Amino acid sequence: MISYEMIMVRFGELSTKGKNKKDFIQVLFKNIKNALKHDFPQAVVEKRFDHIYVHLNGESADAISERLLDISGIHSLSFVHRLSSDINTIVEDSLSLIRNETGSTFKVRCKRADKSFPFVSDQIVRKVASHILKNTNLTVDVHQPDILLNIEVRMEATYIYVKTIPALGGYPLGVGGKAMLMLSGGIDSPVAAYLLMRRGVSVECIHFASPPYTQIGVIYKLVDLLKALNRYQPAIRLHIIPFTKLQEAIYQHVDESYAITIMRRMMYRLAEKLAKRRKCLAIANGESVGQVASQTLASMKVINAVTNYPIIRPLAVVDKLDIIKTAVKINTYDISIRPFEDCCTIFTPKNPKTMPKEEEVIKFEQTFDYEPLIDEALRKIEVKIISSDEEN
Ligand code: ATP
Ligand code: MG
Repeated sequence: MISYEMIMVRFGELSTKGKNKKDFIQVLFKNIKNALKHDFPQAVVEKRFDHIYVHLNGESADAISERLLDISGIHSLSFVHRLSSDINTIVEDSLSLIRNETGSTFKVRCKRADKSFPFVSDQIVRKVASHILKNTNLTVDVHQPDILLNIEVRMEATYIYVKTIPALGGYPLGVGGKAMLMLSGGIDSPVAAYLLMRRGVSVECIHFASPPYTQIGVIYKLVDLLKALNRYQPAIRLHIIPFTKLQEAIYQHVDESYAITIMRRMMYRLAEKLAKRRKCLAIANGESVGQVASQTLASMKVINAVTNYPIIRPLAVVDKLDIIKTAVKINTYDISIRPFEDCCTIFTPKNPKTMPKEEEVIKFEQTFDYEPLIDEALRKIEVKIISSDEEN
């Protein structure tokens, strides 16, 4: 059996980013090092112009690749066998490697960076291919081979690899800045968080809590959701905002049919203030057009009117079934469906407005002094940092 000495990490989409590429690779390099240093102390991460390599030094290729598959900005991985640049070894090891694969056709591709190597690429390809043809039942298909064997002859060694494993894609976490994500206990907002992280945007989370109407269990649920998301962002700050007083004031002063609209306007006002304080460049949430009364376009327009801050809604036009599929994939679904009431479900009126009028909303909001309540809520924030290091 042939052994693998390293994993080749490809950037994919990054290659299109021109002058930012160098910074992006540096961030990705750091993210990979951080992700591996604790559990795989022998692994060494090396940054090159075109790829990042993880030298296994005896660590398990499968275990490391599993970790790498959660890191955004990685386009694909290959397990690489490293050997000395000697034509007989190249020919023999290529045969051993291809014997591990399933398929009936193959193609050999060769790059020769070491121009002093006594054979040119074409000669290497021919020698390797004819050895494989002689010793297996495989046939050559240069257009759509089942197995593509890659050989790279470099100065220091030769590398051969076959499989390419597709990875998460997107951008390295952190290169897209930071957003303040509104995290409920539902299915949608953790999926929105994941999509942002994959796009390179790190998140802090804001949760509006309404004790005693909502129980402490909600907070455990949020912590579990964020622990699941630690796979993609190793440390996440959660701001828990006491929202009860504002909600009670709303229900005292506002017609029931407008309560949700105004409650959500308060959420946006709070989120904007906290986002500014925490230097987040955008607010994000799990809203999806049409999902409930407060998420019709007409509602969203009136709710959104309280802020000029950029609002990112990664799920705006995603179907619920697709959202659920992603939630299952990222292991948040089972946590999200645990039966805990959140502040919205408790106060849900029978007939919320799907077409709220902004003049009406403003009239209601003028009937009570909500600014001091907003300031008080912001003063009483509770902060938790949920990080993957905690369990270790
Ligand atoms: P569900 O999966 O049940 O739809 P949800 O999280 O989408 O859950 P919605 O009531 O649809 O809940 O709310 C839309 C968005 O508003 C959420 O995705 C979330 O970003 C934000 N939100 C709602 N309630 C809260 C809350 N209590 N704290 C923070 N954000 C909230
Ligand atoms: Mg929703």
